Amino acid sequence: MDDCLFCKIVKGEIPSKKVYEDDEILAFEDINPIAPVHILVIPKKHIESIAYIENEDIELIGKIHKVIVKIAEEKGIKEKGFRVVTNSGIDGGQEVMHLHFHLLGGKKM
Ligand code: 5GP
Ligand code: ZN
Repeated sequence: MDDCLFCKIVKGEIPSKKVYEDDEILAFEDINPIAPVHILVIPKKHIESIAYIENEDIELIGKIHKVIVKIAEEKGIKEKGFRVVTNSGIDGGQEVMHLHFHLLGGKKM
């Protein structure tokens, strides 16, 4: 999507502090963190939100969750605990219309 902020981050047109990348998934630091660990994990493919995942995306969504746990482990918050949030749509508080999962931790949420 040409006018999508996170698609631009995927393409490198907007810089980000990457913490993980593979063929299908990118993770980077949130620009406005609300916790000591605040990382966004996204599919490189443009999916508007969790409301628009298709059957063909199910494996990808599973992989994203494995990546989330891997990052939590690397950041040292796997055992103490963390929060994973995805907002969908206006009432869900979604601001960037490209599916993303917030990994939050490093304090009591
Ligand atoms: P949402 O409200 O859509 O669930 O979350 C969007 C998140 O993207 C927010 O936490 C916001 O701080 C983050 N964000 C917005 N613009 C940028 C950006 O240009 N770079 C990065 N790294 N994060 C961004
Ligand atoms: Zn996008």
